Amino acid sequence: MNVCNPAEVRALLERYQLAPKKGFGQNFLINPGVPQRIAECSRGLAPMDRPAGVLEIGPGVGALTQYLSEYYDKVTAIEIDRGLIPLLGEVFADHDNITVVNADFMEIDLSAFIEEHFGDILVEGGTVSICANLPYYITTPVLMRILENWSPEKPVPLAGITVMVQLEVARRICAGAEDGDYGALSAAVGLKAEAVKMFDVSAGNFYPVPKVASSVCGIVPHGGIRQIYNRVPENDGAAAKFAQAVSDTIGMAFGQRRKTLVNGLSGRYAKDVTTAALEKMGLRTDIRGEKLSPAEFCKLTAILQGIE
Ligand code: SAM
Repeated sequence: MNVCNPAEVRALLERYQLAPKKGFGQNFLINPGVPQRIAECSRGLAPMDRPAGVLEIGPGVGALTQYLSEYYDKVTAIEIDRGLIPLLGEVFADHDNITVVNADFMEIDLSAFIEEHFGDILVEGGTVSICANLPYYITTPVLMRILENWSPEKPVPLAGITVMVQLEVARRICAGAEDGDYGALSAAVGLKAEAVKMFDVSAGNFYPVPKVASSVCGIVPHGGIRQIYNRVPENDGAAAKFAQAVSDTIGMAFGQRRKTLVNGLSGRYAKDVTTAALEKMGLRTDIRGEKLSPAEFCKLTAILQGIE
């Protein structure tokens, strides 16, 4: 079955009395070259010499799933739309390395899920990746959830996250502090990972055709805040508290973008304290949050918390 052919996809959906659901952001890929390239890029982020599993979020009718199953030893796909489960069962009846689970990604316990579905791969020293063509409305919460669940101390070796998102969101995810697209999402991703924009995908590659262009991002977790800031408290509990404080600083800094950082943080830190911290860092005291890199957010938080 060709799940990238628009006529076949329509016929398949009709046979199951389904139609693409806007509410679930269902825009299916219909150019096989695109999911193949996404799967290839995704696999390229994981070590080639070790077993590799991939967790797919939102398989739809399976366009990306089929290619992931060629590049990975094992694929587990989480689909929220119950109606698609029997359809996916038919499409992948002959694929013994694909498991489809009916669940809302936002509701699962990610670490437990990975342990349950990829425990065998992890025991062999393998890695797990996450790959998705994400509905646009859920991109940020999904990414934040993955990154929140990942930390260098946690045992799950997440090799990489490959996501197709709206082009503008991709620019924000991958932006550095010096770029115009830099914002809360860029800083939050930068605290834990390196993100690169891989390639753009025009709207004509989907059925139904969305209103926006898309882009594929590769996100590779790095060593976490310890990698970008060298005075993180040694103790794990204190380090976790500090990491949370940095995230809070970023949240407050971008909560009111037009405000200066001193005003943005004033709900938590007295203005003269933040002003002194910025002076200590050699930064302008009227600087806005969007000018600070993830590493500078770590340093600022450390000064504000009396760690530095
Ligand atoms: N992967 C397919 C493709 O590339 O053709 C479908 C992509 S479509 C943009 C997004 C898919 O995510 C849909 O199948 C939708 O039902 C599913 N989805 C939406 N929200 C979800 C959630 N919270 N958890 C799991 N799947 C979700």
